[in-house]
Amino acid sequence: MKSFKPSRREALALAGGAVASVAGSTLLSPRDAVAKAPFSAAKPDAFQSFKHGDMQISVVSDGYLAFGDGRKLMIGPTIEEMGRQLEANFLAPDNMVLEENITVVNTGSKLVIIDTGMGASKMFGDTTGRLPNNLKSAGIDPAAIDAVILSHCHPDHAGGLVDAEGKSVFPNAQVYVNEEDFKFWTDEAKLSGDAKPFVELARANLLPHKDRMAFIKGGQEIVTGITAIDAPGHTVGHTVFMLTSGGKSLAVTADCGHHSVLMVETPKIEFVYDTDPKLAVQSRLKIWDMLATDRIPFIAFHFPWPGVGNLAKQGEGYRYYPSPIRQG
Ligand SMILES: [Zn+2]
Repeated sequence: MKSFKPSRREALALAGGAVASVAGSTLLSPRDAVAKAPFSAAKPDAFQSFKHGDMQISVVSDGYLAFGDGRKLMIGPTIEEMGRQLEANFLAPDNMVLEENITVVNTGSKLVIIDTGMGASKMFGDTTGRLPNNLKSAGIDPAAIDAVILSHCHPDHAGGLVDAEGKSVFPNAQVYVNEEDFKFWTDEAKLSGDAKPFVELARANLLPHKDRMAFIKGGQEIVTGITAIDAPGHTVGHTVFMLTSGGKSLAVTADCGHHSVLMVETPKIEFVYDTDPKLAVQSRLKIWDMLATDRIPFIAFHFPWPGVGNLAKQGEGYRYYPSPIRQG
């Protein structure tokens, strides 16, 4: 077999041809020498896992709520004051985004999810309802979840208990919720009032789980290492949680504060979705003070993804410091 060993003349001809063909294209322009890769269609990380003592914590996203000019949802400072505050923090005043950061705790003996997202409801647009897919990415099987703990019964927290067909998303889980909150949001009498869409959604999600529901109170250890703390106001039975393992504490603050700037730097601000805004402020001040004084890290449901950080005192309010997170 003749090996391909070009003669000098052939080599020059080949080289000449190659140069000619390159010269005939636009490849020799330095500006165009970089490959034009298509935009990536890959979705960004939708979960983060880290160790907390002997627990594995995963923050799993349900997506986000886009409120547009969210200043209209806040009561207290003027629109201009809030605008300046947001701009000073490099946030667009007319584009308020609240994340939906859901906490999953593997205690070693129990798999627990705290809140469930919007589920199939598009009440706040089509950027929510991503929890089932993201649980899959995180390697968490909804059928393996032993306990669903609800901070309160608003649609963005209790809306993911059932799927679009009304079937239970967590078929083997005990459901834990504050009794007053459950009664308030499933109350048939409220179906004729302003809260109708919220009540309908709460009823659709909670009532099918009545036979495997347990009511929780502040101070109660729900499962080993997860303790309820009453923080009423945002709703009547709004509850936050302390995760304790290996002598370390991590709080899950749910809706004590929806915004990482407005409700942290000016913590006395009120929110239009609060059932009792004055009481919500009192609870927020109590919880923020505890986190700052005891330097307890926390996961905030609506703060910028993944919502894990610390609070420190700053002037009349506080400042939020996001934590660096490492997979592990
Ligand atoms: Zn919420």
